[in-house]
Formats: sequence, structure tokens, C-alpha cells
Amino acid sequence: MATLYIVPTPIGNLEDITLRALRILREVAVIACEDTRVTGALLKHYGIEQKRLVSCYSGNETGRIPGLIDLLQSGHDVALTSDAGTPGISDPGVRLISAAIDAGIRVVPLPGASAAITAVVAAGLPTDSIVFEGFLPHKKGRQTMLRRLAESESTIILYESPYRVVKTLRELAEHLGPERRAAVCRELTKMFEEITRNTLGQLHDDYAKRSSIKGEFVLVIEGKRR
Ligand code: SAM
Repeated sequence: MATLYIVPTPIGNLEDITLRALRILREVAVIACEDTRVTGALLKHYGIEQKRLVSCYSGNETGRIPGLIDLLQSGHDVALTSDAGTPGISDPGVRLISAAIDAGIRVVPLPGASAAITAVVAAGLPTDSIVFEGFLPHKKGRQTMLRRLAESESTIILYESPYRVVKTLRELAEHLGPERRAAVCRELTKMFEEITRNTLGQLHDDYAKRSSIKGEFVLVIEGKRR
């Protein structure tokens, strides 16, 4: 029986890939990847000979599923990758994984890089209960989500873009209170990695003063005190 492997890839530092992930990428017949150019470059970096790459991103994932399931059912192993980190975490992949499970195909997840877990352990906030919300909605549902987050007793993990980080920090300070502890994790594992731990109010003031904001962000926010 063929297997669908879920293969995490580095979130910035190319050393952050497991030996097992490299072996699986070498061995499978086909790699279903978010962007064939990104996964192609990763394979090249590791000297893995070019193999059949099938693009599988949010816009075409549903259409790709029947072909990939056929491949698996005819005995070919498939690896699923996204551009960075763990497929299915604010990335495509969940629909393919779910279809494979429904078709009775063996699904094997490999542990590996994910910005959310990397950030939450660096924040220094409680990790006994955590809630991951991905990106906040931009418009519809944003205020409802902020009100919901204000009541969460779990440590909260959010993804954010450099264009919205100041606005989000301001709204988080307004809804959750400026004294709530948090960490802004920027460019994790990369050359300009920066982890700033402070209150939401101070973090907002710090980032609002910056003339240019670049990079990828994870926000980690303390839960409501019990
Ligand atoms: N699947 C990925 C994972 O497992 O982390 C997440 C993909 S999501 C499309 C991309 C977002 O993850 C970025 O906008 C940023 O919020 C966060 N992210 C990814 N890499 C990061 C890094 N090196 N440092 C900080 N945040 C990162």
C-alpha cells in the first residue's frame, strides 16, 4: 500500500530539515508541493535529483486530488510539502490529507519545522495550553475574533504580515489590555531573527516607531489570567 508523507521543510534556515525528510523526498515517486519552483530549489540544494513535482496550492488543490489519489492507489508514494514549514498549517494540504484518509490511504506525518511551535517555545509564556489561530481575518469577523481572543485563557499564537503587524498589535492591546505579556517573533531561524518580549502596549509602541518593518512574524500572547 502506498503512503502519503507529510513533509515539513525549513522556515528560513536550510539546516532545519530532518534526515528522514530528506530520505523521503529522495525516495518518493512524486512530490505534491505548493510551488514547484520553491520545492525544486530545496531539492537542488540537497542534491536530490529532480523528480516529478506536482503543484498543489490553495487555488488548485481540489482539482489535483483525484490524480494524486489515483497515483497513491496505483502504488506510488507521494510526499506533500509546502513552501516553508509544515503543510496544512496556514498552508495548503489539509484537503489532500483528508481525501487520502477517506480513500483508506496510509498517511504518515513527519515532525519538523513550524513557525508556530518555534515561536511559542521562545516566548517564555505558559505552554500547558495553547491556541493557534493562524492569520486574523482582515475585515469580516476580525472584531468578533479579537473579542474571543480576549477571553482565551490559553497562550495565543497568531501569524502576521509585516504590513499589518502594527495594526494588529494596537487592536490586541485595545481588546486584551496593554499590560498583557506577549512576544513578537520576527524572521525566526533567519539571519535577522528578532524576538521581542514585552507587554502588548510596549510592543505596539516599539513597532509603531520603526520606519520600515520587514520579514515574517509570529505573535505569541499570554492568555487571560485565571
Ligand atoms: N506552514 C507554515 C508553518 O508551519 O509555519 C506557515 C505558512 S504561513 C503561509 C506563513 C506565515 O508563517 C508567515 O506569514 C509568518 O506569519 C509565519 N512564518 C513563517 N516562517 C516564519 C519565520 N521564519 N519567522 C516568523 N514567522 C514565520
